[in-house]
Amino acid sequence: MARRPLVAGNWKMNGLRAAAGELTKIIAGARGLPKADFLVCPPATLVASFAAMARGSPVAIGGQDCRAEPAGAFTGDISAEMLKDAGATAVIVGHSERRQYHSETDAAVRAKALAARRAVLLSIVCVGETRAERDAGRARAVVRAQLASSLPDGAADFVVAYEPVWAIGTGVTPTPDDVSAMHRFIREQLTGRFGAAGNDVRILYGGSVKPANAKELLTIDNVDGALIGGASLKAEEFLAIASVYR
Ligand code: PEP
Repeated sequence: MARRPLVAGNWKMNGLRAAAGELTKIIAGARGLPKADFLVCPPATLVASFAAMARGSPVAIGGQDCRAEPAGAFTGDISAEMLKDAGATAVIVGHSERRQYHSETDAAVRAKALAARRAVLLSIVCVGETRAERDAGRARAVVRAQLASSLPDGAADFVVAYEPVWAIGTGVTPTPDDVSAMHRFIREQLTGRFGAAGNDVRILYGGSVKPANAKELLTIDNVDGALIGGASLKAEEFLAIASVYR
């Protein structure tokens, strides 16, 4: 089965209500790019209004994180069910900034992915090695362990995002050969564990994807789209990246 590319934007802690104009432009641009799926993950404060704006359009709206429990005394947290209720259809889990700044373990990430499944949200499960781990020749071992412990069992109903930590927000990217090798490796891990269903899982590349490097990175085998941080904040840049799938 051909995998439909997914172009996903992670706005992180950026965006006030005035940023709705960017979403309007993204929706308009996405209508002209029917070969790709689109996802925008704004801050939680904008999920409901963005989901209302995007209803019936080719752009899905997602959360950037969720707590594993459906409800409870967890001040400041948001459950998968709450995201769903706000109109989200997807959620990023295990982003390296969550792993780093909130000490999220692989087990916590797996619990969040299971929460997404429970709420019928598509989870985008992030994995990726640090610079020190790559330099020590441990990139594959780290990613293998993250996949093994962060992905939920059962259905292969998630998206994987390979995001080398050292490439996020730095303007530095791995070489196409390194991206190719890691995505092939991730595909092998997926088919090894989930059988043929592992071939249907989309593997996104994330880390300093820009209009200037999009074609080189997104046309690599087993790269089924991008998770985009900084360049997703401006509709023009986000759409310029997505236009690889014209
Ligand atoms: C990210 O944080 O998921 C990301 C890929 O960021 P950037 O595109 O800014 O490197």
